[in-house]
Amino acid sequence: MYDHDLLIVGAGLAGLRCAVEAQKLGLKVAVITKVHPVRSHSNAAQGGINAPLTDRGDDWKGHALDTIKGSDYLADQDAVEIMSQEAGEAVLELERMGVIFSRGEDGKLGTRRFGGQKVARTFFVGAITGSALLHVLYEQSLKLGLQVYEEWFVTSLIKHEGAVRGVVALDLKTGELESITAKSVVIAAGGAGRVFEPSTNALICTGDGLSLAWNNGAGLMDMEMIQYHPTTLARTGILLSEAARGEGAYLLNSEGDRFMKKYAPDYMELASRDVVSRSEQTEINEGRGIDGNVLLDLRHLGKEFIETRLGYLQEVSVEFLGIDMSEKPVPIRPGMHYIMGGIKTDVNGETGVPGLYAAGECANVSVHGANRLGANSLLDTVVFGRRSAEKASEYVKSVPNSVIPTESYVKRDLELIKNIMDADGKYRVSEVRNTMATAMTKGIGVFRDQESMEYAKKIVDKTKIDYRDSIRIENKGKIYNTDLLFALELGNMIDCAESIVHGALTRKESRGAHFRTDIPGRNDEEWLKHTLVYKSSEGEIKIDTPDVTITEWEPIERVY
Ligand SMILES: Cc1cc2nc3c(=O)[nH]c(=O)nc-3n(C[C@H](O)[C@H](O)[C@H](O)COP(=O)(O)OP(=O)(O)OC[C@H]3O[C@@H](n4cnc5c(N)ncnc54)[C@H](O)[C@@H]3O)c2cc1C
Repeated sequence: MYDHDLLIVGAGLAGLRCAVEAQKLGLKVAVITKVHPVRSHSNAAQGGINAPLTDRGDDWKGHALDTIKGSDYLADQDAVEIMSQEAGEAVLELERMGVIFSRGEDGKLGTRRFGGQKVARTFFVGAITGSALLHVLYEQSLKLGLQVYEEWFVTSLIKHEGAVRGVVALDLKTGELESITAKSVVIAAGGAGRVFEPSTNALICTGDGLSLAWNNGAGLMDMEMIQYHPTTLARTGILLSEAARGEGAYLLNSEGDRFMKKYAPDYMELASRDVVSRSEQTEINEGRGIDGNVLLDLRHLGKEFIETRLGYLQEVSVEFLGIDMSEKPVPIRPGMHYIMGGIKTDVNGETGVPGLYAAGECANVSVHGANRLGANSLLDTVVFGRRSAEKASEYVKSVPNSVIPTESYVKRDLELIKNIMDADGKYRVSEVRNTMATAMTKGIGVFRDQESMEYAKKIVDKTKIDYRDSIRIENKGKIYNTDLLFALELGNMIDCAESIVHGALTRKESRGAHFRTDIPGRNDEEWLKHTLVYKSSEGEIKIDTPDVTITEWEPIERVY
């Protein structure tokens, strides 16, 4: 048995930023992660991180307003204020830790303009921003003596006398199940992109953290808010970063027309993501697409510029479609990218469940509301990762030293694993997952309506039954049993899908990413509210609709 003050589930940017802070505060900290820390999905972030720096003539209120408008007024404004106020220091602190941000001609930190913002306030490291940040935070946390449980999969939380006191986890290398106790647990386990097919997310983004929290009484908020990124590569679904449009790329339809002038005459290609994705889908649906895609045109930027500033994008385009971006436009389409929803927390990561905190993509603070602005997620991870460490540290001090009996929790999970291992049904896990994930994209897509959402719900309900009765596990071994791992992940994905369809069916309006063709308007009178899905102690699904916090920005019509 292992014991710590603070155990962090997840070694992405949120988890590692939290770890660095908690170690500085003197806690005995460990991080547990199902992959090597720098293989976390944060590593894939390309475009950048937002910060309004005053010495650039920018101010936090400008960033806050853009974020709130981007969120279609669903973000809690008190939380956005904190994120915008702390952004500058958070980014400069990363620079001081050792992140080598790209610089402009004047030698100052360079910026690019991202969608939904009038000001260029996105700081970046070429097209590998996430990777650069993650490596530096990993290095810093190791320097402070962080203990890392690497390639361990958390199967459940240990809740003792009403408070979370650790986890049960499977050591993937040995196949042994162990308990790890702690005075407090922070969930920083990332997003749930793979609940949809296709998705820009890594295969490891299976919503495990959301499921862990949900099954221990925490609420999942605004789960219907699924972000479709406007530029994913045709056929493969790989992300082409917003940096392309930030650097000046155009979107064209089959007639060679820059169609965004119809939909967002002021911001054009740099309107918010939900608006651009809907515009593209409308062009495609109305017959002005090319094989279900539109075109991203960078030719006017020139080969040298593309290769120095957007090298990774060029690589992907050449490698997967054989297209040199300086010579030909690239076919792209909207693709599932991010979940704005997540474990409801306050601005200090508190979930309402004693001892349990959450930060990063799995959490909903809520700063992204119904649509996240590009480059605000990396910012969210570091700002709220740090704040959750502070609050959890305070809490840890109030927890007396005691030995927690863990045998019953381990036994429960051994049973669960045995049932999965013995399963001998007719479907492979991947078949069941694919059926559900493609149905989710169909039902909870860029556009949706009552019928499509009910269809998604029907498939999710059926998947629950198939998962219980008809999967089969072929690999009966213990060491690196990915068959078992994928089955455990599928269980978590089903929980996420269930919360998403409930959130979606609850919201009777269109707002941000939740665009219902059967109810196309935003309805502030009745729906300036979050959807909050949770499980009662009897396991029954319940839904609340708490009010959105408005401070100084009254909702107005959103025009780009
Ligand atoms: C391709 C791509 C590009 C992006 N580009 C940008 C960008 O330019 N700017 C921006 O702001 N945002 C971007 N985003 C979004 C942003 O990268 C993510 O939202 C953010 O990095 C998530 O960080 P995180 O720390 O919350 O989670 P992650 O980095 O996803 O880390 C999750 C961690 O949890 C661990 N974990 C999960 N489940 C378990 C379990 N059961 N047991 C043990 N460990 C577990 C994983 O091993 C991992 O360490 C991008 C996203 C993608 C997919």
